[in-house]
Amino acid sequence: MPTTPAAIRIPTDLLPGDGRFGAGPSKVRDAQVSALAAAGRSPLGTSHRQEPVRALVRRIRTGLAELFALPEGYEVALGNGGSTAFWDVATFCLVRERAQHAAFGEFGAKFAKATSRAPFLAQSSVVEAPAGTVAHCHAEEGVDVYAWPHNETSTGAASPVERVPGSREAGTLTVVDGTSAAGGLALDVAQTDAYYFAPQKSFGSDGGLWLALLSPDAVARAAELEADRWVPEFLSLTTALTNSRQDQTLNTPAVATLLLMAEQLDWMLEQGGLEWTTARTAASAANLYGWAESRPWATPFVTDPAERSDVVGTIDLDEALPAGDVLAALRANGVVDTFAYRKLGRNQLRVAMFPAIDPDDVAAFTACVDFVVEQLG
Ligand SMILES: *Cc1c(COP(=O)(O)O)cnc(C)c1O
Repeated sequence: MPTTPAAIRIPTDLLPGDGRFGAGPSKVRDAQVSALAAAGRSPLGTSHRQEPVRALVRRIRTGLAELFALPEGYEVALGNGGSTAFWDVATFCLVRERAQHAAFGEFGAKFAKATSRAPFLAQSSVVEAPAGTVAHCHAEEGVDVYAWPHNETSTGAASPVERVPGSREAGTLTVVDGTSAAGGLALDVAQTDAYYFAPQKSFGSDGGLWLALLSPDAVARAAELEADRWVPEFLSLTTALTNSRQDQTLNTPAVATLLLMAEQLDWMLEQGGLEWTTARTAASAANLYGWAESRPWATPFVTDPAERSDVVGTIDLDEALPAGDVLAALRANGVVDTFAYRKLGRNQLRVAMFPAIDPDDVAAFTACVDFVVEQLG
């Protein structure tokens, strides 16, 4: 008997323990929020130039260095403005003349647009691939930065992080957007010169901050370019680094964001670090894709299993089954934010599987969708 989607009641024993599956802001663990409440009189509401907040920044910098086993000489920098701001930081401070971008979704394309429009740079070289697949950078004369997203959040396709052969020797930097991948996908930092991300995805914190793992070559490039290129102070990587080295930011950060991030890093490290988080996201992904492949009305959008992301899964639904109805029914039962990326315009569910998300909850999510589909009849 067909019914309106929002009137569907999913039996409580099918519901996940936590119904947040959004790709960012994403699930914040209760323990992080408790830690935030406990910090209510310090460091919350205290100066970011004094030790209590600087200690938080230090916890984040050392925690990231440990989580990613930072190679000798690499440094952790941070600043305000999120990953979107880092695109402009990199445009000003890392690209000397010309960048090459691999673009296979919204986020990779946005960074390509930023460098392409910069009046002081040559037109960028852009290697494109259709949504749901992965494009790869390739050796090209005259290019001094190769850039791509580790995980394309808009499509659920993940790319390997490996330098273009010979690029390091040629002095070309590798700049990788790890915004949704960092903390949830395996990474060899030595394959990058700048690996940047934001706290609201795998780190289950809030937005507004960028963080970057920088190689000595990236630091040297910024110093070289900033010596004779006008760079707005807010976008200066050298200034950000100078502040980061003192466990500070150029201007006032959101202290609560720092605290949620530090708590999540401690949690990841206590559980077993990147090895543990990546095993957990892989278990979630196996639950999601295995389920989709076994349902006649569901198909993983990314056709090549090797390119399917373990942190953001995209599942196409049969045309006869409007995703809008499924989403409305899920939301009415507290299972939220599994809509497709808006510009992709597909009849699709997009499910975040960041480390905070329990693989059992991903399995519960699939059971909820099964129930809703049955009810929508
Ligand atoms: C979310 C996201 C961004 C944008 O991050 P902001 O912090 O909102 O600027 C950039 N790149 C990727 C891959 C993302 O997933």
